[in-house]
Amino acid sequence: MEILVCVKQVPDTAEIKIDPETNTLIRAGVPSIVNPFDKNALEAAVQLKEAHGGTVTVVTMGPEQAKEALKECVSVGADRAVLVSDRAFGGSDTYATSYILSQAIKKLGNFDLILCGKQAIDGDTAQVGPAIAEHLGLAQMTYAAKIQVNGKKISINRETDEGYEVIEASLPVVCTVVKSINEPRFATIKSKMAANKAKIEKLTTAELSDLDPTKIGLKGSPTRVKKTFVPVKRESGVKIKEETDRDTALKLIEKLVEAKLV
Ligand code: FAD
Repeated sequence: MEILVCVKQVPDTAEIKIDPETNTLIRAGVPSIVNPFDKNALEAAVQLKEAHGGTVTVVTMGPEQAKEALKECVSVGADRAVLVSDRAFGGSDTYATSYILSQAIKKLGNFDLILCGKQAIDGDTAQVGPAIAEHLGLAQMTYAAKIQVNGKKISINRETDEGYEVIEASLPVVCTVVKSINEPRFATIKSKMAANKAKIEKLTTAELSDLDPTKIGLKGSPTRVKKTFVPVKRESGVKIKEETDRDTALKLIEKLVEAKLV
């Protein structure tokens, strides 16, 4: 089974901090990591490879430093790692990012399964996976909490607010995964050392010569950011806990009367 996993290098923080003066992301002093959901996607790919054979290719679009993320992926089971990088890609929104990634995927070969995380913890849009499927003309399966492959058929448990749906499709498909799908394995010292020496392939506009220049970078991005702002922090609420339930209720009434709410 030929599997490709899209991974994104993101800032290592659950809380993105915005400079209130410039309204841009504060990156200084924030180390980079592999997007956590993409680690789950990679683990799912490696488990499928272990069960069915084949290879796992990881691909990222980003600056040179994103090679570190790719090496980490190699240390936990990826066989081939590709960096998609070019100055012309700077300023790409989700449309342009997914277009460039889809063209890179076409260049890299025929894949039975393309896996993505459900979303990136910085951009948070959850658009790139489904958009890659659209650009490639493939079926998309999202929010997979379990993946089973049987010959040319794939079935997933698709996580929803109420529970999960079981959906089936014929390969090839693009599939995005949620955190509960697995526990990503850790690298060993030996596998980390081997990954450090791994060859990282690179695709630029020179290799991706079929790219439509009107669909890449800032100029090829239809998204217009009209305004960014830091949301006002809400004050935390008051917790009332008296000795008895009756006293708690009386205290609550007292507070509501004080606030002229009753
Ligand atoms: P999601 O859609 O939430 O990610 C879902 C999944 O898609 C991930 O789990 C992963 O599997 C895959 N994925 C997402 N991004 C990548 C990637 N890069 N490589 C491989 N797989 C990926 N960002 C920049 O870094 N540099 C810029 O110059 C830049 N300019 C921008 C300009 C504009 C006008 C806008 C609107 C955004 C810009 N961005 C830029 C942000 C960039 O568009 C998003 O980071 C990117 O499209 C991914 O979207 P997301 O983070 O919401 O990912």
